[in-house]
Amino acid sequence: MAKSDVLIIGAGLAGLCCARKLQKEGIGCRILEASDGVGGRVRTDAVDGFLLDRGFQVLLTAYPEALDQLDYDGLDLCAFLPGALVRYEGHFRRLADPWRGGGTMMGSLFSPVGKFSDKLRLSSLRGSVMRKSIEEIFATPETSTLQNLRKRHFSHRMTDYFFRPLFGGAMLDTKLASSARMFEFIFKMFCEGDAAVPAKGMGAIPAQIAASLAPGTVQLNCRVHSMTPGQVKLTTGDVLEAGEIVLATEGDEALRLAGESKKLSNRGVCCFYFAAKEPPVDEPMLVISGSNRGPINNLAVMNLVAPAYASKDEFLVSVTTVGQPSRDDNTMIAAVRQQLKRWYGLVTEEWRLIRYYRIERALPSVFPLERVQRPKLSEGLYVCGDHRATPSIQGAMESGRAAAESLIRKLKGEPEPEQGEAEGEELPSGQTSE
Ligand SMILES: Cc1cc2nc3c(=O)[nH]c(=O)nc-3n(C[C@H](O)[C@H](O)[C@H](O)COP(=O)(O)OP(=O)(O)OC[C@H]3O[C@@H](n4cnc5c(N)ncnc54)[C@H](O)[C@@H]3O)c2cc1C
Repeated sequence: MAKSDVLIIGAGLAGLCCARKLQKEGIGCRILEASDGVGGRVRTDAVDGFLLDRGFQVLLTAYPEALDQLDYDGLDLCAFLPGALVRYEGHFRRLADPWRGGGTMMGSLFSPVGKFSDKLRLSSLRGSVMRKSIEEIFATPETSTLQNLRKRHFSHRMTDYFFRPLFGGAMLDTKLASSARMFEFIFKMFCEGDAAVPAKGMGAIPAQIAASLAPGTVQLNCRVHSMTPGQVKLTTGDVLEAGEIVLATEGDEALRLAGESKKLSNRGVCCFYFAAKEPPVDEPMLVISGSNRGPINNLAVMNLVAPAYASKDEFLVSVTTVGQPSRDDNTMIAAVRQQLKRWYGLVTEEWRLIRYYRIERALPSVFPLERVQRPKLSEGLYVCGDHRATPSIQGAMESGRAAAESLIRKLKGEPEPEQGEAEGEELPSGQTSE
């Protein structure tokens, strides 16, 4: 392999966005990717006529970085209906979003889940996050999401039956111990746009970015074993030289490659895909568990949202449980099936389990959370990825672009903008174990 100006390690969204920005500026770069495809944690498997995202996830269309970098028309985005169906005291309650579509008035919105005072507080929360810029959200003193909700005087019931399953599900933290900045950011994104999936699965997002790169940019099945300044050693034993190196792997792997002994705290998730003859719900809406009993956090019928997710005569039901699964696969599957039976009856016994994804490192746990941390680690070494920004599609894309911009400034001999202390930030910065 010829010497590249820049070697990027990892073809997730961060690495892909970094490469695209560099190439736009005419800087030669190459991505080394350990796996057999691009996208990292955003990939879709085609299995028996179904499209299975590797873990249920959605694109929030208001993400500013996604708006800037993706061609939404090309992705043919299919949106969920705003709001959710909450399983609460043995019934499903529809929580429509009164501000967008649905036509449900505020007065009927959160009954019976929340009190009237919760509705007023929700309105005030919405007003406050809509008025704030994203920069202002990230400049607010950091607390936990739970503290934020308590400060706003939401009732325990509203917290437990609405915020905990919906936002705990989005942040993969049903304890709500994670960043209040992230909570406000996601809340703002929910208010300003849709939750959507591309018609052909979430994997279409990285595929679209990869298609804009120069041919041959990404080298698949190419795992980096170790690195030293200006040199990368592959697991095959080959050594590659580069003017600059960008670490765009998951946080733990970035730490290992940078020679750090620290470990990141990560949040886990499991996603079960079932094929059903009849759908358990008849609209493209997220179902969330307000009971906090049983393993299920959320459920969705994917081909009601985007028809190509399933073949014509069956429905694809995605079921998600949040947290590191402490139980073995069979016990988990049995517990999920039991809860499904309680929710939808005996018919669920006929649902066929297509595949099950157990993802132990789904999201890095970062606290306090900054919007984007500085990408430059040392001379010739940069880092990007969701562990350096908001743990999300937005964060991965934004940090990839930020790493490229920092590199471009260096290669053009321009100074870095003033930010915090001296150069050579430690890796990682501000990570904690929960
Ligand atoms: C189940 C699940 C649900 C999620 N839900 C949402 C959601 O609804 N909305 C949202 O915004 N975000 C969601 N996220 C988060 C989002 O997907 C991630 O934050 C984002 O994709 C991270 O991108 P990344 O580029 O930073 O890292 P990654 O996608 O992890 O990419 C890192 C890449 O580096 C490669 N690599 C690692 N080690 C090496 C090595 N030694 N040599 C070469 N290559 C290497 C990996 O193979 C991988 O391709 C979810 C994540 C998961 C897992």
